[in-house]
Amino acid sequence: RETRLRVVLRVRPLTCTETRRGDRRVVHSLGDGAVQVSAARHDATFGFSAVFDAGASQEAVFEGSGMRQLVEMAVDGFSCTVFAFGQTGSGKTYTLMGPLTQSKTQPATPALLGLMQRSFAYLLEQSQSRGSELALSASYLEIYNEQVRDLLSSGPPCALPLRWSKTRGFYVENQLSVDFESLEAIVSLLLQGSQRRRTSAHALNRHSSRSHALLTIHIRSRTVSTCPALGTCPSKQGTLCFVDLAGSERVKETGSSGELSMEANSINRSLLALGHCISLLAKPRGKWTHIPYRDSKLTRLLARSLGGSGITLMVACISPSSHCLSETLSTLHYASRARRVTTRP
Ligand code: ADP
Ligand code: MG
Repeated sequence: RETRLRVVLRVRPLTCTETRRGDRRVVHSLGDGAVQVSAARHDATFGFSAVFDAGASQEAVFEGSGMRQLVEMAVDGFSCTVFAFGQTGSGKTYTLMGPLTQSKTQPATPALLGLMQRSFAYLLEQSQSRGSELALSASYLEIYNEQVRDLLSSGPPCALPLRWSKTRGFYVENQLSVDFESLEAIVSLLLQGSQRRRTSAHALNRHSSRSHALLTIHIRSRTVSTCPALGTCPSKQGTLCFVDLAGSERVKETGSSGELSMEANSINRSLLALGHCISLLAKPRGKWTHIPYRDSKLTRLLARSLGGSGITLMVACISPSSHCLSETLSTLHYASRARRVTTRP
């Protein structure tokens, strides 16, 4: 059966800078998954599976986005992906991991933990209730300037080859996969990897991620169950992948130059490739032509989640500010198009 990509929208509160500048709020949630953008020359309404406005807590996003079901499906053996998408500074990292500043110096406030930590906790709950049946391991990669790097290996990050095989599809060779059994262990892998991720400060965001990061949890059923009717059933292998995309940005607005603008160009190029794949995939299956997954490392790694056998949740993030209007509209158009994409889990 075909399943649609589930797309939810999160509108973050206005930041201090935006308020101080006197930006107007141009995005309004209408309830029932509808959101309206009204500004001088624009008035448009968009619909999503759910809309979380500025007042929505991290917990509300976890409960209302379908994340819990996604974790359950991963335990059942499906490949599940959640990706956060939107302009730089729109709240992607916040939604996935919570505020970053607190992670380095002090323990995170539980109420502010993001989708990732909440999913880990739920996954481990599931794992405990099933006894020692599930074996869990994690890998953590970033795509920086079109190079795939391992965020968990020791030493300076080195580029890993991305390959394709008939049975596995696109995969990264030699990536490290670390076993874990407790919440503390996986949270510490997340922090360890995130600190190695390439970030730079620029005009729009002090901790702007300059790379796309993919954390994948591999879930294997340890016991091979025996069904009386079929003999031995194959063990299940599911994955749960969290993708924190680097934000799209206008080089002009972020004040980037030199190395920063090269980073921005490769970020923008891969996001463009992703957008291109999504708009082709959004056409009815019969009208599919060639889907250019090979145009970027990002689209290769997301091929299964987007058009293949995965189940995908997309969290589009936007700022409500009048200042971000054009980026906001582009995120909303992109996200609405993604709602038409289907996969065959
Ligand atoms: P991105 O990863 O999209 O570039 P961030 O997640 O780093 O953006 O968010 C940019 C800033 O906005 C951060 O300072 C973050 O703490 C703040 N922020 C984002 N979303 C929220 C939210 N829902 N509530 C409060 N602050 C938020
Ligand atoms: Mg970020």
